[in-house]
Amino acid sequence: STAEQLSTREIQALDSAHFIHPFTDHGDLATRGARVITRSDGIYIWDSEGEKLLDAMSGLWCVNAGYGRKALAEAAYEQMMTLPFYNSFFQTTNVPAVKLATRLAALAPKVGDRSFEHVFFSSSGSESNDSNVRMVRRYWDLLGQPQRKVIISRHNAYHGSTMAGASLGGMSGMHAQGDLPIPNITHIGQPYFFEDGKPGETADAFGVRAAGWLEDKILEVGPDKVAAFIAEPIQGAGGVIIPPATYWPEIQRIVDKYGILLISDEVICAFGRLGHWFAYERFGYKPDLVTFAKAVTSGYIPLGGVMVGNRVAKVLIEQGGEFNHGYTYSGHPVACAVALANLDIMEAEQLPQRVRGEMGDYFAKRFLALKDHPLVGDAETCGFVAGLVLVKNKQTKQRFNPDDAVGMICRGHCFRNGLIMRAVGDRMIIAPPLTMTHADIDELLRLIHQALDLTQADLHQKGL
Ligand code: PLP
Repeated sequence: STAEQLSTREIQALDSAHFIHPFTDHGDLATRGARVITRSDGIYIWDSEGEKLLDAMSGLWCVNAGYGRKALAEAAYEQMMTLPFYNSFFQTTNVPAVKLATRLAALAPKVGDRSFEHVFFSSSGSESNDSNVRMVRRYWDLLGQPQRKVIISRHNAYHGSTMAGASLGGMSGMHAQGDLPIPNITHIGQPYFFEDGKPGETADAFGVRAAGWLEDKILEVGPDKVAAFIAEPIQGAGGVIIPPATYWPEIQRIVDKYGILLISDEVICAFGRLGHWFAYERFGYKPDLVTFAKAVTSGYIPLGGVMVGNRVAKVLIEQGGEFNHGYTYSGHPVACAVALANLDIMEAEQLPQRVRGEMGDYFAKRFLALKDHPLVGDAETCGFVAGLVLVKNKQTKQRFNPDDAVGMICRGHCFRNGLIMRAVGDRMIIAPPLTMTHADIDELLRLIHQALDLTQADLHQKGL
């Protein structure tokens, strides 16, 4: 392989000379050099220096079935030898795409009068959310309400990096760099109890108050102008912000009251991550559109899409005529074949059931015990996603100054000691593969403890 022929330094030099990375400060990259990841197995990855790292982020929240799955490689190989590509435009189709759409429709639970019998395919979460904007606008146009254009999202949300994805997202740093959001997208606050709960307010009371910001925004915009509300079940990239139990039921009440569409962006949360095939089941709400990507193939090959609920599908299909929208790779046969093999693994190993069963309980018990660490202000889990906040003072919940870069310090100690954990400001977050065993969870927690202790000592030394 290339990694064997070139030294790490040579790869790093070529990397910084030619490769523009996503979400990367290239000045920093040029000075320090990228870590070159060369191979993987199970829950571990290795770099070009032979260092082994426990990947508690499953890549970017996607390798749910773990690394080293031969069945996925074989599915890709076989499909490439049979039919490596054909499009699904102009009245053609292919067998893996048909089978996958059928299977996803069967996996998506019916809720009330909503069912998901249709799937639109793309290659990523970002594209899927762009498609959502197009579909939502088309839906209201076809119903004779073209003035319903406004999509409400949330601050600190992540919905992708395309113009519509980044606009739907609520990352101020992304908006600042692209004259975003595009028109007719607006944002409300996120349900972050640790940060925004008032003294004496319960999490449940806060959940209802935070959901109320949606109603306030609908009234401000004008109910007849609002097309949809989009949200992640749990804000992932925003730092694993888990809403209080009262939040989603109240959101459901509000979207129903005003008849607006509900888009559940489950790019992170679907496919077992929260213990269910789809996360709306975990929280008991009724979306009209569900965005998916990442773990549908456990990240082995790009694939994304939208589960289109019957309310929207009926209008688009029965009243729509041709919808001028689609991607070269919509329903890519190889990606769909890999997804089918991935779902086979998830079903055979009962990965969603593991997460919502004893293994999930064990993970939660071990992770939540981190609350006792002097640096940890709060810790939370939901399925196999978890987050903790690093604080200066546990008693008063005093936060660190953003300039202290406490998350980055902690991330550095994780990295140097064999653990991939992500930092979002002062929050440390993980989303490990769903295949974790008790022993894996013990090892993960040992590594997290070690990193926290080293961080604490480091902060002490820096006088923070
Ligand atoms: N939506 C959510 C909730 C995500 O977490 C992500 C990526 O992390 C995206 C959309 C964008 O997906 P992609 O990077 O595949 O375009």
